[in-house]
Amino acid sequence: MSKFIPLSIPNFEGNERKYVDDAIDQGWVSTGGAYITKLEEELAKFLHTDNVAACQSGTSALHLSLVQAGVKPGDVVLVPPLTFIAAVNPVKYQFATPVFIDCDNSFCMDPVKLASFCEEECAWDGTVLKYKDADVKAVVVVHVFGNMADMEAIMDIADKYSLKVIEDSTEALGTHYTEGKYAGRYAGTIGHFGAFSFNGNKIITTGGGGAVTSNDPKVVDHIRFLSTQAKTDPHFYIHDEVGFNYRMTNLQAALGVAQMEELPEFIRRKQANYELYKELFDGFEYGKLMPFREGTSSNKWFYSLNIDREKVTASMRDIILSLREKGIETRAIWGLINEQKPYQGEVNYKLEKAPYYAERILNIPASTQITEEEIRYVADEVKQLLEKLANG
Ligand SMILES: *Cc1c(COP(=O)(O)O)cnc(C)c1O
Repeated sequence: MSKFIPLSIPNFEGNERKYVDDAIDQGWVSTGGAYITKLEEELAKFLHTDNVAACQSGTSALHLSLVQAGVKPGDVVLVPPLTFIAAVNPVKYQFATPVFIDCDNSFCMDPVKLASFCEEECAWDGTVLKYKDADVKAVVVVHVFGNMADMEAIMDIADKYSLKVIEDSTEALGTHYTEGKYAGRYAGTIGHFGAFSFNGNKIITTGGGGAVTSNDPKVVDHIRFLSTQAKTDPHFYIHDEVGFNYRMTNLQAALGVAQMEELPEFIRRKQANYELYKELFDGFEYGKLMPFREGTSSNKWFYSLNIDREKVTASMRDIILSLREKGIETRAIWGLINEQKPYQGEVNYKLEKAPYYAERILNIPASTQITEEEIRYVADEVKQLLEKLANG
């Protein structure tokens, strides 16, 4: 096979060109226009929620959520160490302090450690949770790779300590519970805020883009207001709050409306491809395909191979470069955020699983266009390589 198999590329098989042309023809290309409203409505319907505000990126969605949650300079926000750094950077935009809490085997925040941090390291006076002298205001929970975090346990802890829960659902559009207390509820609609991203590598894309939801429709209205420069009076330029230029454009939304039409098919393909990989890696000695949480239906955005580091000691870089020579694009999971320069001085709490998985996880091709033949080729090549490295 001489073809290059990418990790994850956008898919424009639908009405993308038609709708973008239409937006241009109408002259509505900026932060006003019918496609923006239409995309918000389609997202709300899909997520079974009342109100969604479209914005410029997942990062701005997270930032607006923190602002709306009342996170102020000096406040503490509990965050994950093993995810994309954009989940944590907005905490710094607010001059707040991140504290890193370990993940569990889903790569998402470990509720047991979250609870013990609140119980053992903080003081609770019945109204405010204090860490040293700071107020612990919020927790950013990331649904990593489309895997639902343990929201039942996390919401109980957040309720107990009056914490605002911001669900970073940028990778989990479509993931939902099928069983339990939250059966039928979608990632991003369980906590106080849900942030989504439509960047180029996500399950749907608007080039760049994002969205925020909340179970309180008034909260979403206020976020939309903040994202459009907080115009108290739109005609006479009266502003009572500091606003942002974070609104999605109509051009982006035109792409998004077309992508929403295809989203159920994209999820179906991601799920079917995962099943095929699972079959192909079944019983493989040197790496296991990581599962998704039981009692949920995941969008299966990314697939994670957990490499046996007792047997395969080659560096992740060497593994990735060797596969690259075979025309297969893979990637390592992220470097730990608490180890990145801007975060090295911050507190981290009982990090064990995060550093463990940081060395072991390889993401394998997951585009919606990948063919069965390509999946078989990827699995064969990955298996051959790891076997060779283990025995050589
Ligand atoms: C993609 C992503 C973001 C940021 O989204 P952008 O649209 O790129 O700003 C934030 N958090 C996580 C976990 C992501 O994967």
